Amino acid sequence: MLIDTHAHLTSDRFKNHTDEVIQRARDCGVEKIVSIACDLADSKDVVDLASRYDNVYPTVGIHPCYVHEVEEESWLEQIKELAEQNSVAAIGEVGLDFYHDPPIGFSESEWRSRQSDYFVKQISLANELDLPLVIHQRESGDEVLEILNDFPGTKAVLHCFTGTRAQAEKALSMGLYLSFTGVVTYPKAPEVREMAAFVPEDRFMVETDSPYLSPVPFRGKSNEPAFVTHTAKKIADVRNISEQECAEISTENAHNFFHNLRNG
Ligand SMILES: [Zn+2]
Repeated sequence: MLIDTHAHLTSDRFKNHTDEVIQRARDCGVEKIVSIACDLADSKDVVDLASRYDNVYPTVGIHPCYVHEVEEESWLEQIKELAEQNSVAAIGEVGLDFYHDPPIGFSESEWRSRQSDYFVKQISLANELDLPLVIHQRESGDEVLEILNDFPGTKAVLHCFTGTRAQAEKALSMGLYLSFTGVVTYPKAPEVREMAAFVPEDRFMVETDSPYLSPVPFRGKSNEPAFVTHTAKKIADVRNISEQECAEISTENAHNFFHNLRNG
């Protein structure tokens, strides 16, 4: 069994064929899927979608690229209520993204401080509710680790890890997990394969980030949870273990990391 620990099943690209996407995943041995939310409305949609499938587990949270769209003052209270009422798997995805330009009306520094504010509030919420955190970082790896350093004991995964060895070492020393997408299959990503080989056995997970980041041989096509098998196969290769072992280890790690995943 494999677990896709990061898919966006509420994406428009899956609309009207969610049943087939989830069935194709099952047919490939991907028996559980963590569906990740990006903003307040999406958090509600993800919870709603997960309630219709017994093998889909929701997260709730505000992605750093959408922090300017959350207008209600009560956003944090609403995320908290969703998390409390629906036994979610994690808070996420949250974090910092310094890759994209700030939206209209924000200077670079205002944008970064807005992102930090939302990130810090959601770290505190996760710790208050004793939930793990799914973290997005893009050109912000050092800053993410710096903020997390102020919250020792936070249980978090750096999703789609593509960082440096120094960042990996720091993250691991803080007890964080690293999770790998189809990027690990890309010819131009030898550093990512190196880190997938380097991460300790009890600290890695696999994910698609579908519908984005399709692994080889599906690059350019829409990604979906079934394709996490290709990412797991590549990680097995670089770690010199069998596909079966890689599936067992990453599944055990996902069960240990996420809330409520083991039941069901
Ligand atoms: Zn994502």
